Amino acid sequence: MGKKFLIAGNWKMYKNAAESRAFIQELGQTFKAQAGLEVVVFPPFTALAGLRNQDAKIKIGAQNMFYEEKGAFTGEISPVMLQELVDYVLIGHSERREIFKESDADVSKKVRAALQFKLSPVLCVGETLQEREAGKTMAKIKNQLEKAAQGLENYEMSKIVVAYEPIWAIGTGRNATPAQAQEVHHFIKGTWQQMAPGRNLQILYGGSVKPENSLELLAQEDISGVLVGGASLKVEQFSAIIHNCAELLKK
Ligand code: PEP
Repeated sequence: MGKKFLIAGNWKMYKNAAESRAFIQELGQTFKAQAGLEVVVFPPFTALAGLRNQDAKIKIGAQNMFYEEKGAFTGEISPVMLQELVDYVLIGHSERREIFKESDADVSKKVRAALQFKLSPVLCVGETLQEREAGKTMAKIKNQLEKAAQGLENYEMSKIVVAYEPIWAIGTGRNATPAQAQEVHHFIKGTWQQMAPGRNLQILYGGSVKPENSLELLAQEDISGVLVGGASLKVEQFSAIIHNCAELLKK
């Protein structure tokens, strides 16, 4: 069976509802549905309701959620609310972990809640520059994976997508080299095999992905997609990345 790719765009705190709708409409005109290629964008919460059923080939995801079903949690959004609007949810993005102090325990509860309500969690992991330079990359990633998946059943593990996002590469213009990314992806694959024997894992790379570096990254053996921040905000750039992926699928 050939590789299956997921091209994901994290819009962060950009684009209102009208801009989001216009983007999806324009993006939809730039590519055709193709076996092995899935496209998902993660707009802000306020845009989600307006994007339902806009374009069947562009899936929608949320950038975050709370883990409780309902209750007195002012300002939070629950998995039940998201269930009717999205297919995917980003969990543990480094900006959530660093700026909003999300802990590994929060991340674990969120992964569990997403699975319970049939949302596909995109679990983000990654090391800081300091950790990389101290040779602690693999230990950090292993710890994040183990904590996030703690207590999950083997069958649930196959529903998770992991995004490897080195923190030093996010929004910095400095991407991991394809070889650096492949090394960590290979490690993640092996770690997952130990945690959930027999379960395949889709692993995305994120961190300054652009049209110019996307082809080489996607061509790495254990890279099965990309999570794109800045370059997902412009239709030309995001669609160029999708096109590179489509080209790779033809080979
Ligand atoms: C991200 O937000 O997940 C990301 C990878 O951002 P950028 O592509 O801008 O580095």
